Amino acid sequence: MLLGTGLVGGIMNNNGRLTASLEMAAMGAGDMFDICSSCARHENVDFPGHNHAMLYDIALIHGAVHRYLLDLGVDVKFFSRVKSLKKEGNRIKQVADEKGGIFEADVFIDATGTAGPMSNCSKYGNGCAMCILRCPSFGGRISLAGLAGAKEKTGRNSNGAVGAMSGSCKLHIQSLSAEIQEKLAVSGMARVPAPKVLSAGKLSAKACQQYALDEYKENLILLDTGHAKMMTPYMELESLRSVPGMENARYEDPYAGGVGNSMRYFDMAPRDDSLKVEGIDNLYCCGEKAGLLVGHTEAICTGALAGFNAAMSAFGKNPLVLPEELAVGFAIHAVREAMETPEGMGKKFTFSGSVLFEAMVERQLYSVNPEEIDKRVRKAGLFDAMAGIKGLA
Ligand SMILES: Cc1cc2nc3c(=O)[nH]c(=O)nc-3n(C[C@H](O)[C@H](O)[C@H](O)COP(=O)(O)OP(=O)(O)OC[C@H]3O[C@@H](n4cnc5c(N)ncnc54)[C@H](O)[C@@H]3O)c2cc1C
Repeated sequence: MLLGTGLVGGIMNNNGRLTASLEMAAMGAGDMFDICSSCARHENVDFPGHNHAMLYDIALIHGAVHRYLLDLGVDVKFFSRVKSLKKEGNRIKQVADEKGGIFEADVFIDATGTAGPMSNCSKYGNGCAMCILRCPSFGGRISLAGLAGAKEKTGRNSNGAVGAMSGSCKLHIQSLSAEIQEKLAVSGMARVPAPKVLSAGKLSAKACQQYALDEYKENLILLDTGHAKMMTPYMELESLRSVPGMENARYEDPYAGGVGNSMRYFDMAPRDDSLKVEGIDNLYCCGEKAGLLVGHTEAICTGALAGFNAAMSAFGKNPLVLPEELAVGFAIHAVREAMETPEGMGKKFTFSGSVLFEAMVERQLYSVNPEEIDKRVRKAGLFDAMAGIKGLA
């Protein structure tokens, strides 16, 4: 399937993510955000530490994105795990998948993420938790930048551990009490009081540092994305079932959510602010591959820029570097700089909270006013700037 970990996510537009999506729309790169909105189950949801969230329906999002790509004429190859490449000097000439398919191109983009493979989940986590990436069935992640010889970096958690554990799991909604189900259906959110001892030690392992708040220790926070998304990395099934209303709780993702969760933030690519991978002349990167960036919004923003710049470079044009006067440009720059220090490598960056959102607020970059953001993008000379790619050919 397309979308990787986006298949089990759903939270968009919370806090500064709305700012980033409005900036991208003003630059002419808002299609993916429109698609996510078209799959919304709930809009304008507030939950602890987060405002104006949109929750997309995890059952609808894959079809919507796939149809969009087909309409654009994109040739999507499923069952195609890239496992080797050929280079000429510093340029990748072609990549090959496990089935012998060969793909030549002028320029490539590494969007392989940072999760797993199983050996990492075993070594640094609690073992394979049977997450959405389905490594046992389809094979684990293989990094294109790594194959090309880039010197990759691995993140550390705030407690010093290597990598970070994914921070949410999903429950089968019908396995929860009628009262919880109703709260989820009506408001998109349910706050279920639970003894602190149940989440003890688990929240510090989380990839998403924006959830390090007391409310997440004293309650199980559930969000309706089609599953009941529980904002805790994992919890022993019997402990979970001791919480009133959750006596029959059953995991949907990861299937072994009573044991652990996927491990992420391995093998990030060194890159510049145009998202070109250092040392390889025709390779761009995006999403988690482009740094300690957490989130769908973050993956969409960097994905759009990497795609745009890959096309620019294929047509012999200079790549676009977004200025720091834009929240998206600031994030891409700040994450690269932070990753040059050991302290920075212990952090995670998202428009939705923690250090990056705090810096956005401080720099007065956080806004949810579309007109203000339009003006900001026009002032930077980038209004509709990423919509013009078709003209290049
Ligand atoms: C459980 C969970 C819940 C989350 N919930 C949210 C949320 O609600 N909101 C939010 O904003 N963010 C959420 N996130 C974070 C968000 O999903 C990610 O940060 C973002 O989507 C990363 O996207 P990516 O494309 O960089 O990587 P990934 O999502 O990891 O996708 C990489 C893809 O590349 C494939 N791949 C790897 N190697 C190869 C190869 N060699 N050949 C071909 N394919 C390959 C993988 O199988 C995978 O499909 C969640 C993450 C997890 C794990």
